[in-house]
Amino acid sequence: MQSYELLADSFLFGHGNFIVGLQRKRKNNTIFMTVGLSKYSFFETVEYNFDKAAAFTGFDAGILEQIKACNSVYQMKFPVRMGQNLDRVEVFEAYRVQHSHHKTPCKGGIRFSMDVNQDEVMALASLMTYKCAIVNVPFGGGKGGIKVDPKKYTPLELERITRRYAAELVKKNFIGPGIDVPAPDYGSGEREMGWIADTYLAMKPGDVDGLGCVTGKPIAQGGVRGRREATGLGVFYGTRELCNQADLMQKLGLTSGIEGKTVVVQGLGNVGYHSAKFFREGGAKVIAIAEYEGAIMNPEGLDEEAVFQHRKSTGSILNFPGATNLEKSSEALELACDILIPAALENVITETNAPNIKAKIIAEAANGPVTVEADEILNSKGIVVIPDIYLNAGGVTVSYFEWLKNLSHVRYGRMEKRFTENMNSQIVQQIENMTGRSMETGHRSMIVHGPDEVDLIYSGLEETMISSLHDLLNTMRENPGIDSMRTAAFVLAIKKVGVAYKELGIFP
Ligand code: GLU
Repeated sequence: MQSYELLADSFLFGHGNFIVGLQRKRKNNTIFMTVGLSKYSFFETVEYNFDKAAAFTGFDAGILEQIKACNSVYQMKFPVRMGQNLDRVEVFEAYRVQHSHHKTPCKGGIRFSMDVNQDEVMALASLMTYKCAIVNVPFGGGKGGIKVDPKKYTPLELERITRRYAAELVKKNFIGPGIDVPAPDYGSGEREMGWIADTYLAMKPGDVDGLGCVTGKPIAQGGVRGRREATGLGVFYGTRELCNQADLMQKLGLTSGIEGKTVVVQGLGNVGYHSAKFFREGGAKVIAIAEYEGAIMNPEGLDEEAVFQHRKSTGSILNFPGATNLEKSSEALELACDILIPAALENVITETNAPNIKAKIIAEAANGPVTVEADEILNSKGIVVIPDIYLNAGGVTVSYFEWLKNLSHVRYGRMEKRFTENMNSQIVQQIENMTGRSMETGHRSMIVHGPDEVDLIYSGLEETMISSLHDLLNTMRENPGIDSMRTAAFVLAIKKVGVAYKELGIFP
């Protein structure tokens, strides 16, 4: 019985091929089957990183305790009718955690996965607080999760589950443009966000800002152009800026810039796909891509779209033309490369595989991919880890832009596009008159072009990722005792949240 339970648990909580050991623990009403991952649960990992950084903030224990604590945890169970004839009922377990109310609304995605449990959602909600603080997005952190395997249900069934979850949030006042604003996360996307918006609006008729109750929506339902690729694009902008720091690159024995860097991407979901796309377009070579079923490698570089289409038609990433198969997905993490991008789930780099990692830079596109133990090993090997709470903040940054669009009720660029184009045309015209030469058509249209929504979104995201990277690097320079970018990121985040609490007048 005992071994059966262990086996069952390992299926629930393990991550396919990424499993590497065996351990069991109980935390936050959840029995964990973390397989050799870490002696810390995910939430404890966040707390560990917080405590390590707290020493550099100068705040006293009371305020630190408040910043660290999850303010509201809502665990729910609800029934949903299933099957074509709706003659069967299934009960689902779900969560919404609001980690911090220092700024409202709270913000963070909703995960659809069988791995969802209270500890995980609390950890992810906490990371959202720090993430928002680092990139100056004025929200508290939140996260939601439904314990469900989306692959097992029809779209109609998933719609019923999602709408019921949204209704539960409305009933408990856990959603709203000024309260808590969910978004996509692992296992959810635009379609689910559309259902949530529609459910909210049906229950709150007349709420003129109602569309701002959720982000990551389809464009036709108040979404913003650029949100889908935002996390991957943010990963690219952030890593590119780090690679542009000549002194840092020299220490790593690398040349400056993205051009020619070799990259391994773990996970070909939304974040992994778009990370691979932007790195390839930026001149890097994506030499390996890993998924559950295995990994593929090609030193000449892989085209993520071709790989995606191959997986879609064959059901597997393996046997991609021109590439070598790696049977175990986890092997890809240990390949020699310049940049390793874990873009799937937490706890994939552990004390077991960290000693074998050959990448010079680890770009954390996923939330929590490196365990506490692994972090120390990577640090001692001189590997630079660009931490999740900075690097994958592009998603929530563009969610913030979407929320602003919903509250302002106007598409980005609508007011200034034509004005800018007319001004630019005048300038080009004047230059042509003065020089007596006419500008080449391609150059003319590039210069004249007024900003579309997507141009402004990309520009806002690029500015955010670049300036926040420099905030992190400055934090490291100002505190020589800080030994990693992760600690610097936590220091920066804690300071910002602490200052916000002080401004609220709650703390002396
Ligand atoms: N789920 C994403 C994250 O972990 C996005 C959250 C959001 O856009 O609110 O950052």
